[in-house]
Parts: sequence; C-alpha cells; structure tokens
Amino acid sequence: MSSDASSKLFEVAKRLMPGGVSSPVRAISPYPFYVSRAEGPYLWDVDGNKLIDYCLAYGPMILGHRHPEIMERVVRQLERGWLYGTPSELEIRLAERIAALYPSIDMLRFVNTGTEATMAALRIARGYTGRDRIVKVEGGFHGAHDSVLVKAGSGATTLGIPDSLGVPKDTAKNTLLVPYNNLSAIEAALTEFDGEVAAVIMEPVLGNIGPILPEKGYLEGVRRLTKDQGVVLIFDEVITGFRLSLGGAQTHYNVVPDMTTLGKIIGGGFPIGVVGGRRELMEMVAPSGGIYQAGTFNGSPTSLAAGMATLDVLEREKVLERLNSRGDNLRKALSDIVEDLGLGYSVVGIASMFKIFFGDAPKNYVEALNCDKAGYFAFFRRMLKSGVFLPPSQFETNFLSAAHSEDDINQTLEAYKSNLRD
Ligand SMILES: *Cc1c(COP(=O)(O)O)cnc(C)c1O
Repeated sequence: MSSDASSKLFEVAKRLMPGGVSSPVRAISPYPFYVSRAEGPYLWDVDGNKLIDYCLAYGPMILGHRHPEIMERVVRQLERGWLYGTPSELEIRLAERIAALYPSIDMLRFVNTGTEATMAALRIARGYTGRDRIVKVEGGFHGAHDSVLVKAGSGATTLGIPDSLGVPKDTAKNTLLVPYNNLSAIEAALTEFDGEVAAVIMEPVLGNIGPILPEKGYLEGVRRLTKDQGVVLIFDEVITGFRLSLGGAQTHYNVVPDMTTLGKIIGGGFPIGVVGGRRELMEMVAPSGGIYQAGTFNGSPTSLAAGMATLDVLEREKVLERLNSRGDNLRKALSDIVEDLGLGYSVVGIASMFKIFFGDAPKNYVEALNCDKAGYFAFFRRMLKSGVFLPPSQFETNFLSAAHSEDDINQTLEAYKSNLRD
C-alpha cells in the first residue's frame, strides 16, 4: 500500500492546522490517508488505494457514499439556491416527519451539528427548571462544548474535572458524572443535589465508547428517577437516531425522554443537528420564549434536502430492517472468528454498529478502558493494509452501511481472520 502522496500532504497540513487535522480523531498516526473520492462503501485515497469504509464519516453515511437519490435532491435544491435567511417549506416538511417518528418530540429546532443540539438542549433544560447542574454519563460524548467536556473521576457522583484546558472550573463543577448501567449512582446524585439538577443527558446506547448497551431496566429506571425529581431527561440520539429504528433508541426500547438531540444520519452527510422535545420545554425557546438559540445556517436547505432524501430511502426501501439483520449476521460471524482465536476478545454492538473489543465486553466506561488499546491500533493498521478502513480507535464504533455488499463483507471477514491471527 503506497502512501507517499498522503505523507507529503500531511507535512504541509501540520504547519497549517493543529495536529495537521480539522478534528482530533482524524490524526491517524503516523499520518492520515487523504481521500480523493468516495462512492458506495468505498473510499479512494490520493495514492490510489481503495478502502472498504466502516467508519462512514463516524456515522452519517448510512446509505453509503454519494447515494444517487441524495445527490439528485441536493442538486435540485442547489438549483433553487442554498441559503435564504428566511424560512423554507422544507423545514416544515422535515420537522413533521421527525416529530411523527420521535415520541418525545412535539417541537424542534434545526441547528448545524450535534454539538449545537446538545448545547441548546442543556440550555433549554436549565432555562426551564431554573437549575444549573446536569448529570452526564461517564464515557458519553455529546460534542465539544464546555458543559459536557468533563471526564470520569472515581466514585458514584464525582464533581466534574474539566477534560480540556480552557473549560472554566465553574462550568465543570456543575457537571456531575455517573457510570453507565448504574441506577443507584443516578439516584445518589439526584438525592445529594436534590432540587439543583436541571437535566440528565445520556446516549441511550453508549456509542462513543462502545457500543455499550443498556442493561435490562436501566433506561426505564433513569426515566422513573428523573420524572420523580422533575429533572429533564435528554436522550442524545445523534448516533442511535434513524439507526436503531427510524424513531431511534427511544422507540426501540420504548422509553420516552423529555428532550432528544439528533444529527449525523438526518443530514444525509451534510451538516445538521436537531434539538426537540416536549411542547412546554420547546416553547420557551426564542422567539416564543426567553431561552436564546440562533444560527445563520440553521435549517440550511441543502442539509434538509439531503436529510429528507435519506429518510425517504430509509422508509421506502425498509433499509433498517435489512441492515440491522445484516449487522446481526456480521456480529455472529465476528464472534465465531473471535471464539476460534481464544484470546478473550469480545464482539459488541447493535443494529448497524459493531466492534471487536480487545478484552471483555464492557458495561461502562471504566471497564471499557481495560481493553488492549495498543493491540487494537496495531490491528487497525493491518486492516488498513488489507484495504479495510475501521475507525482508528478502540473506542469508536464501526458502522455497516446499506451499500456494503456480501462480497465486501466476506472480504472484510477474511481480513479480520488473518489479521487477528497475525
Ligand atoms: C457525533 C456526536 C455528537 C456531536 O455531533 P457533531 O455533529 O460532531 O457536533 C454528539 N453526540 C453524539 C452521541 C455523537 O455521536
């Protein structure tokens, strides 16, 4: 596998951008491959290598790259202009569809990223309750803003320690951390800070450190505890939305939060975020209420057109039923490979999310940290040489798209077999 062109580009990039990249996870050591073209389940890099893509831009590309229907609808939108600064009918049509699919969403606002969506959701919860503290699950990722960039400390309810330089201590101290799959920890936090907690924000399935699935009764228990204490429950479904089911994890598990954040898939590969929830919460958002949220690119017509086209294809072709059962088959095949190896690795996932954990299947963040990270990275590099692009971290979920063929998957399984053995 030649990589001279990528290596040369990275030398220039390093002088111009921190770490040579526009987002940290892309800084694959010793240098990333630069993509020149994408189609279906494949990426081609500037050195002419063809890769089967299981990263899929970290989630949005559920139909694969350059899906013809999305392209056609985006081009049709471009022909009518791409930014108006005034409402377009498209936002009503997509909002209607989303509200019909998500039991928690009566009203919503379109923003540009998942980060913006969770930032707005927390502000709405704080504005609605008049409380400052939030509870966040360890290992949950909600984008890159101050309130949620707080990492695990030990103990059930540790006061937050900033996970990034530049996060004010006064912000971080309002973020309480609890381990996933542990109801008594949430109960303890809500009891200790009774009347001070605005929201519990969580990924219903931990997608950024796993996937790690909720144990039986966990989500129901969180719902019960938050309701009892008047705490706003926010499900961050930026990964699980339009993936576990069209109505996300809340429909799959039949647990209805107060607010939901969406992103990734519903932009069809264009920037988008959605914050939605119960009417009485959402009506407090400006201009109907006093909680401010605004954006030049909110409801960007190209993103909405791409999202609408994606939803049309997902619904019309019943994509998720097929894709999720192919996910089951893939996980089964990987489990067989892992079992034959006898190394104590595990296969985790749900729907179109999968991953080999180099260690026991974790049930929370602390357990996930116990895996063999260096071993995984060495394996990742070998897979890349075999023409298979997995996300470069043990903690990022791998995704299967509707565009991956049986041949692609068989070739991938062969690569898993030989590289794991090596
Ligand atoms: C990716 C992600 C985000 C952040 O979305 P961006 O569009 O990258 O800002 C938030 N929450 C979850 C669960 C995510 O996976």
